[in-house]
Amino acid sequence: QWVIDLFTELSERQRRSTEIAGRVRERSASNHVFWPFHAPQFPLVTAEASGGRILDADGNSYLDSHLGFGAQALFGHNPPRVVEFVRDRLARGTGNGYLNPIEDDLVGLLGEFVPHCEKFAFLNSGTDATNAAIRLARAHTGRRLVAKFEGALHGVHDIAAHNTAFWYHGHPVEPFPEIGPDGVAPLPALTGVAPASAAELLVLPNDAEAALDLVERRRDELACVIGEAVSSSFPFAERTVPVVRRVAERCRELDVPFVLDEVLTGFRFGAAGAAGRFGIPADLYTYGKVVSGLGIPMSVVGGRADLLDHMQTSGLPLTDIGRKTCVQTTHAGNHLALAASFASLSLLREAGDAYYERTRAKVARVQERLAAFRAETGIPLRLLGFGDFIGSFGFVAEDSYDDYRTFAAAVNPVGLFLLTLMLRRRGVYTLSLPMFFTGDAHDDADIDELCAAVTDSALELSK
Ligand code: PLP
Repeated sequence: QWVIDLFTELSERQRRSTEIAGRVRERSASNHVFWPFHAPQFPLVTAEASGGRILDADGNSYLDSHLGFGAQALFGHNPPRVVEFVRDRLARGTGNGYLNPIEDDLVGLLGEFVPHCEKFAFLNSGTDATNAAIRLARAHTGRRLVAKFEGALHGVHDIAAHNTAFWYHGHPVEPFPEIGPDGVAPLPALTGVAPASAAELLVLPNDAEAALDLVERRRDELACVIGEAVSSSFPFAERTVPVVRRVAERCRELDVPFVLDEVLTGFRFGAAGAAGRFGIPADLYTYGKVVSGLGIPMSVVGGRADLLDHMQTSGLPLTDIGRKTCVQTTHAGNHLALAASFASLSLLREAGDAYYERTRAKVARVQERLAAFRAETGIPLRLLGFGDFIGSFGFVAEDSYDDYRTFAAAVNPVGLFLLTLMLRRRGVYTLSLPMFFTGDAHDDADIDELCAAVTDSALELSK
């Protein structure tokens, strides 16, 4: 009965949102919101967003814990100085396919944040960036095979869409594919993905010895290995970093390019991302999400100049064409995105280490509150941390998982879905993989409000 009451209450509270969403859905696939972990049964239509809050079409205000899949997680929705800078750029005309001085400023600034990158290229999404990195690595090595870790998420292009995060398919993947001498057996590709792309892919188990053995045996075929320091499907840096770092170090010795996917971690694990924080050596790095600020689409591939140079022609058409590749796309390097990125990263540089200290303190505050709640109630509610800056809320006992597979099996999607709706009722907006992104968007009072909403919902759910 309480579930029916909850659904009824939300439907009433979101009457106008539901109406608008109903009309939108007739004509738009709205892939950006109507996916399983977005509680598509209760689509929220936002009217305005500011800082760490959103206002829906019915006039309800929510604390936003999702912050645009984390893309607005640095300073919240529309930090005035970034808006001002971008507005000025807009007024003076924007464009793509023209070089603008802002690019000069931005590459200088990026170089300060991530000095391990000699060169950069600008694209539109994390998917674009990992796709481009793979293509560059293939152009450089003349090899075809790509290795990725089981469960890792690198976007939606064909290579990335195999054996990806368990929640990406909308449900945990069980039974898990067999791990054999050729790596993790391919899962059936998502519908629409070219099945043949599985043959270009080696799926590494999340185990250093097994992964190293595979990389060493297939080194002559490998164009690159791609990995994340911490995966959104097993968000425990202390477990994933040592594996990824060892594989990356070995790749360097074997002369196999390593791509560190920093779409989630870049500028968040610290100014120099996971690479700087954990000393993970890579040849190419991909950035997305927060890199643009304001949630404007933009991504960056950075890294070794000789690899990035496979995109750059010498000016003479058809010179050395066999080693050149193309990832150019209409909106790449558009001035609006470059301006937003420059303004946001300038703010971040100004804030300095204090920014990261503040953010870690907020996450620690959540961790403390939840630990006290667990001790008091015995309910295994925890913040499943992606390190010390973001995470998702979940009900999993600490001893119920020790790797990606056991973790995926321990996650309770129905519980998380209900938790999301109960949070919504208490004025907190998140996905039904209840994301927790924070940064300067939230102050301590917001964090306390969020914790109270999460623990009250968990208590109610446990009854
Ligand atoms: N790589 C990582 C680590 C991600 O977390 C994501 C998306 O969440 C992507 C790549 C894909 O980025 P996008 O959604 O911008 O295509």
